[in-house]
Amino acid sequence: MTSTQDAKAPAGEVVLEAIGLTKHFPVRRSLRGLFSKQQNAVHAVDDVNLTLRRGHVVALVGESGSGKSTMARLLAQLYPRTGGDIQLHGKSTHVRPGRQFRGYAARVQMIFQDPFASLNPVHTIRYHLSRALKIHDNAGDDLETALHGLLNRVALTPPERYLDKFPHELSGGQRQRVAIARALAAEPEALLADEPVSMLDVSIRLGVLNLLRDLKERLNLAILYITHDIASARYFADETMVMYAGRMVEGGDSETVTQSPAHPYTRLLIDSAPDPDRLTGDTDTLQDRGSGEPPSLIHPPSGCRFHPRCPMAMPRCTTDLPVKIEIGDAPGHWAACWLFDEATVAAQQPGSAAAGVAEEGQS
Ligand code: SF4
Repeated sequence: MTSTQDAKAPAGEVVLEAIGLTKHFPVRRSLRGLFSKQQNAVHAVDDVNLTLRRGHVVALVGESGSGKSTMARLLAQLYPRTGGDIQLHGKSTHVRPGRQFRGYAARVQMIFQDPFASLNPVHTIRYHLSRALKIHDNAGDDLETALHGLLNRVALTPPERYLDKFPHELSGGQRQRVAIARALAAEPEALLADEPVSMLDVSIRLGVLNLLRDLKERLNLAILYITHDIASARYFADETMVMYAGRMVEGGDSETVTQSPAHPYTRLLIDSAPDPDRLTGDTDTLQDRGSGEPPSLIHPPSGCRFHPRCPMAMPRCTTDLPVKIEIGDAPGHWAACWLFDEATVAAQQPGSAAAGVAEEGQS
């Protein structure tokens, strides 16, 4: 299938889907633990659902260590999963290294955070792009024309100015454009962009996001945009999903999630971004704002994983895992929070039987 044919596929068509995706990394045993039967694990991603559609950007937002980059690597099948399913066009996929992986990578490409680390410093741009075109059999009859086409697509023009340069001769933004061009050489249907602008100068972040948006529209790409900056998610993504300690906690269209956040964690994330219209500069971290530390993912908190930091926590939050609850203010807006369960909230009212038990426990 060529990119031209792909671009004609209906916008909104589901390309890639994660269903109950789970990843636990075993922790190496200490000398003292060698004789213990129990093997600890980092619960990096737990039971996550996510859908990527053609012509649609989904932002995955969260603090460092929330599991969002692990999600990208799982979807790219760079990590084996512990549980759940990854479906490409509705079919379960479980790729292994070699040709099978190459076939999958041709349809699902990753863009990494650090464009300098992702390009080999001893090779020219021509080498990087030629190799990608050849690996994916997309060089056609005229390699030079294909190379020019790629650089034109990422607005590095005139192409002959860039082809024989080395990565260190380019700016950070230009290097990230080369990394994007290399991903496009595979003629993918989905791009997984892991913090693609966070290492770039603030003045050029917007240009790279605009390029990705233009590619989404022209090539009808499905894009996963991973970021810690919820303000940029509002600007760039159609849909925003918020991840905390390995679990999804809120999702919906970007305007609703960023302007009317429901989950207390999303509200804290937005409060930590001083100017919601800002795309430039770094956000304060929640720790800077005195909102506590993310929990250990080896022994994650019981119930709601956010409960040790949540200003709204109720007794039930410490024991029961919140389910996904529709908020009702906009189609598709949901949060995994007991605050939106009427029965739970009613039970916390003074005088209710449950509140009485809780009050007795505290006295
Ligand atoms: Fe806070 Fe409870 Fe909602 Fe978790 S479920 S975010 S602890 S109110």
